[in-house]
Amino acid sequence: MAHRVVIVGGGAAGMQTALELKSRGIEPVIVERNIELGGKAKGWHKLFPSFVSAADVMQPLALKVKSERIRCFYGQEVSEIAPDGVMLRSKERIPADAVVVATGFTLFDAHRKQEYGYGLYDNVITSVDLERMMNSGCVSLADGTEPKRIAILHCVGSRDEKVGQKHCSKVCCITGVKQAIELKQLFPTADVFNFYMDMRMFGPGYEELYREAQERYNVHFVRGRISEAAETINKRIQIKAEDTLTGRPLRMTVDMLVLLVGMSANYENPALAATAGLDLAPNGYFKAVDTFLGAVRSQREGIFFAGAVTAPKSLADTLAEASLTASAVDDYLKRKFNLR
Ligand SMILES: Cc1cc2nc3c(=O)[nH]c(=O)nc-3n(C[C@H](O)[C@H](O)[C@H](O)COP(=O)(O)OP(=O)(O)OC[C@H]3O[C@@H](n4cnc5c(N)ncnc54)[C@H](O)[C@@H]3O)c2cc1C
Ligand code: SF4
Repeated sequence: MAHRVVIVGGGAAGMQTALELKSRGIEPVIVERNIELGGKAKGWHKLFPSFVSAADVMQPLALKVKSERIRCFYGQEVSEIAPDGVMLRSKERIPADAVVVATGFTLFDAHRKQEYGYGLYDNVITSVDLERMMNSGCVSLADGTEPKRIAILHCVGSRDEKVGQKHCSKVCCITGVKQAIELKQLFPTADVFNFYMDMRMFGPGYEELYREAQERYNVHFVRGRISEAAETINKRIQIKAEDTLTGRPLRMTVDMLVLLVGMSANYENPALAATAGLDLAPNGYFKAVDTFLGAVRSQREGIFFAGAVTAPKSLADTLAEASLTASAVDDYLKRKFNLR
């Protein structure tokens, strides 16, 4: 009989791990708290750095999970994990020979940065709202008109001690570049300004895209942080910032302000980790055994990680890591059951 592995979370990481395990003759079972698979990436429009549609990546994954007849529990939240299975909130227990935690991340709640007026001013939106608007085919101001001047603010809820998020979310700089280009494609005569602290172009093709945004699309990159935003009487957004390259304070009125929200650790991580005696990193993400040779292993034999549950990661890195996780689980099961 095939060994069974329960995968907690049916996002990109969970699905890819399940498919890789299945191809190795192991029986994966996915538990997903939402009513469908896909996690956050299912909600994106086009993906950096290639602008391929997110649906073209995420739908085939979900379809393959279905065609491979991988068992999935939907609308079920895992509340306890152990090397020999998981417990659902409904108190049903699913026994297993190993467990993979692929519970991902939580989007930073932009309401917490009150100074930017998210939720108060109609034309202050997040990068996630912009993805939704693009998916709906309607990017506009609240009154339905086209924006002529747009500001994109980097590091909202990242690298910010005030909100307890010291880490860099890694993917938002390149998301900001991608969204600036998409906005210029939609509104070629609009002015788009990206306000950043540092541009972190860590991945393949990212630096080139950053260059293209400036040279081909004339996106303006301003080194500085917006300190506050206020709504004007005609529903425009007045922002105060400092250009940290010139040292000069800056005031600007824009039609739309896009907040690039960061990737935070899930709020449930402490409780979930405690059920298995696992440690968390200081930023609240699950802590792997080691960054180099143990990046997908937890401190407990039989419990593994995949994807953004251990740190902010791109989708490409998430998918690559899931294959690594499947291989580590396979090795573990072979050792455990003396299969070699
Ligand atoms: C605004 C934004 C845009 C992005 N755009 C891109 C892009 O263009 N290109 C790119 O490469 N990357 C992009 N990324 C990164 C990408 O979204 C992540 O790499 C990817 O979502 C990580 O997948 P995951 O499966 O690890 O986590 P998630 O997508 O968070 O999936 C985790 C899943 O686990 C489930 N879950 C959580 N807890 C439980 C529980 N206790 N029980 C059961 N189920 C549970 C959740 O419901 C969810 O379905 C972007 C990120 C952000 C924030
Ligand atoms: S990736 Fe860029 S925007 Fe995101 S937290 Fe890091 S520096 Fe800030």
